[in-house]
Amino acid sequence: MALRFYNTLTQQVETFSTLHDNVVRMYTCGPTVYNYVHIGNLRTFTFQDVLRRWLRHRGYTLDHVMNITDVEDKIIRNAAAQHKSLAEYTEVYTQGFFEDTAQLRLERPERVVKATEHIDDMAATIQKLTDQGCTYVSDGSVYYRISSFPTYGKLSHNDFSGIRAGARVDVDEYDKADARDFVLWKAQKDGEPAWDTPLGPGRPGWHIECSVMAMKYLGETLDIHTGGVDLTFPHHENEIAQAEPLTGKPFVRYWLHAEHLSVDGQKMSKSLGNFYTLRDLVAKGYAPETVRYLLESVPYRKKLNFTMDGLKAAATSIERLRNYKLRVETDKFASGLNEKITERTRQATAAFDEALDDDLNTAGALGAVFEYLRDTNSAMDAGEFLAGNIPAALEFLDRFDSVFDVLRPTAKTGGLSDADVDALVAERNAAKKSRDFKRSDQIRSDLASKGILIEDTKEGVRWKRQ
Ligand code: AMP
Ligand code: ZN
Repeated sequence: MALRFYNTLTQQVETFSTLHDNVVRMYTCGPTVYNYVHIGNLRTFTFQDVLRRWLRHRGYTLDHVMNITDVEDKIIRNAAAQHKSLAEYTEVYTQGFFEDTAQLRLERPERVVKATEHIDDMAATIQKLTDQGCTYVSDGSVYYRISSFPTYGKLSHNDFSGIRAGARVDVDEYDKADARDFVLWKAQKDGEPAWDTPLGPGRPGWHIECSVMAMKYLGETLDIHTGGVDLTFPHHENEIAQAEPLTGKPFVRYWLHAEHLSVDGQKMSKSLGNFYTLRDLVAKGYAPETVRYLLESVPYRKKLNFTMDGLKAAATSIERLRNYKLRVETDKFASGLNEKITERTRQATAAFDEALDDDLNTAGALGAVFEYLRDTNSAMDAGEFLAGNIPAALEFLDRFDSVFDVLRPTAKTGGLSDADVDALVAERNAAKKSRDFKRSDQIRSDLASKGILIEDTKEGVRWKRQ
């Protein structure tokens, strides 16, 4: 079956196709850089990474844009409280975001763009919306008149026809009950940063930046737009309302939203204070790829309840996968090719692909991998897995890892490289040969203290990182 996604706009699972050639024009709402991201945010960004990787696997090229929201109510408040300029304040968390996402092995979108570098574009777009009759001015601020856009509500599937015309909101975030005309341009207030534009001194509201940057870099109609479910309303609804009156075309063809990561049944969020950052978990001794695995293991449209036990289970799963790979690479198998195993590998690959084609069913894909591990481990125990079966098994693992990306251990900073370990293992072998057991034991315990385990097997020495 073809690649398909659940589209929030149509509330249907739809077969995916692109508008132009095989290039996917995709936009992601990036972080609001007023703090380090928590692993709830990272769940959404990890989903996007899996999406990117699977689209590429299916032959597409990506043109993916992500914004950095570096001007917004909370940022302005926090920067002022710390007596810092916006740029000084946001730079720390922008860099922090790049570090965290790199640690989680998230690919960088082709373009990462900052709101503050697009203020003139935003002012020009607001002017065009005014020319279209979509706005009005009150106390120097410019508001979007939602009654001017008859299909307002089509993404969040809300009927807003009865709302009071002229009721306004100035804050960047608000809920459905508060659906009102929203602010596009905020007139300067005392002590707040402002830009001089033909709209008068002020700053943009949060919503306008994404419509503007998405269309600037990706054109009038995007293939995919992603974000967490909390962005569906009002943010994405407003993005559509800001874009479509200007082009007369659909703004986005497929809207994909990731469900929340929760803790004790509540959304993980900065405001509730119930969050962990990646930094917190790494400080507790968890490898970044363990967090990555946990975030990937639940399909993106299902809620993921975060627990430390879940994280430990993720570490165990990675361990099983690595041990299996090591076994395939280093065990001695009888020569020949077992056609049954060849067929089993083909079947596992098809099941893996089908699961990911099915709206990125990552749990299904992992199920296919672990069933394959179980069956082929038994075949190895029974002497039925033959040397000729090795390449296809490794290829299947590569396919898995090109999406999940957890097999390579993160090198501990200040730790030993693979080449360093190989050299020490060779030195230990030489010491044993010359019966210098003191030295060989010393090397073994030094390596163990650095988290590297040596195993003496029939086939020789193996080592692995813990
Ligand atoms: P923010 O920095 O608040 O704009 O959020 C960045 C991204 O993280 C957005 O796509 C949000 O929808 C998403 N997000 C926020 N909280 C969670 C959560 N608990 N679980 C999953 N995604 C989240
Ligand atoms: Zn956005």
